[in-house]
Amino acid sequence: MGKFQLLLWCTLCLALIASSEPGYAWGFYAHKKINRQAVFSLPPEMIGFFKANITYITENAVNPDRRRYAVKGEAEKHFLDADAYGDSAIYLLPRYWSAAVEQYGEEHLREHGIAPWSTYQTFLQLIRAMQAKDKKAILRISADLGHYIGDIHVPLHTTMNYNGQLTGQYGIHGFWESRIPELLAEDYDFLIGKADYLEQPQLAIWDAVIRSHEAVDSVLLFEKQLDANFPQNKKFSFEERGGINTRVYSKGFTIAYHQALQGQVERQMRSTIKMVADMWYTAWILAGQPDLNNLGDQAPLEEEEHEPLEELKNIRNEGDQGKGPIPTQKGKELPVVTTSSRIQYSWPILQRCLQIQPHLPPVA
Ligand SMILES: [Zn+2]
Repeated sequence: MGKFQLLLWCTLCLALIASSEPGYAWGFYAHKKINRQAVFSLPPEMIGFFKANITYITENAVNPDRRRYAVKGEAEKHFLDADAYGDSAIYLLPRYWSAAVEQYGEEHLREHGIAPWSTYQTFLQLIRAMQAKDKKAILRISADLGHYIGDIHVPLHTTMNYNGQLTGQYGIHGFWESRIPELLAEDYDFLIGKADYLEQPQLAIWDAVIRSHEAVDSVLLFEKQLDANFPQNKKFSFEERGGINTRVYSKGFTIAYHQALQGQVERQMRSTIKMVADMWYTAWILAGQPDLNNLGDQAPLEEEEHEPLEELKNIRNEGDQGKGPIPTQKGKELPVVTTSSRIQYSWPILQRCLQIQPHLPPVA
């Protein structure tokens, strides 16, 4: 095997490994943390109800990601490829769905993500659930809304280069939104004060998307700079995830990146928590301030078990360095969204790759 073929082979190996891990936006840890923390910013009229159901609100913060590979039309609710519409398009895109459909057509919009518009739709659903005093729906939609607001605060959810795949930074998606919070968020300051009424929730959503999109440059640039100056054999390490030895960004590299970003991940998490609380509160006001303390004792809706669809399996794999299988409500595992089987597939290839080219720089 010639030198060029070896190089090609190893590039392929590494690409396979990098592509083996679908992502879940903010990581499960951060999504749950965000929904939970938002409860504590609610006013006295709301906090009792939300606190009584805080476990539900927390655990179900990731329902939309559980549906992502199983429900048609779900995946596109989690992102917006703002740059697909050209430079500075983020400032010009129609803020209202009907206007956007008129300008671009629904199919084109869905292809590039509909997060800002659909997040607003979820907000409207919450208002209706509160008006109807439908306890099950209030809880389910509040949890969903927290998730979607979380997603629009992740810079890489607003660009076509969502996993650094266009700039040789494959894996950066999960690095930013999962690895950093999982390692460092325990020290973050999540006291964000009380919820505020949003005069224009629709535009507040777009403001959040714009701020996220404006951060894309630094998310990519600082990783690139760091990568150039960091010992390559210290960039990754291996951790056991769900019984599988999984390649992850090393603690040293993660902390260095966090410092280079000057706490950007913490700031975005704080903004998310604030906005989730603001949106829950605003929905309650617009619903006429229903008494949430007398909704009866119905149990919250159980999230349905979703069977993954073959055709949705490979939709937008964002990569999150492998988090292991995603447990469903009943503790079972969904086959398609698990990362383990795919890692098992790619791991022997890496080993083979290292065997045939033992003097390659180690990846761990
Ligand atoms: Zn998501």
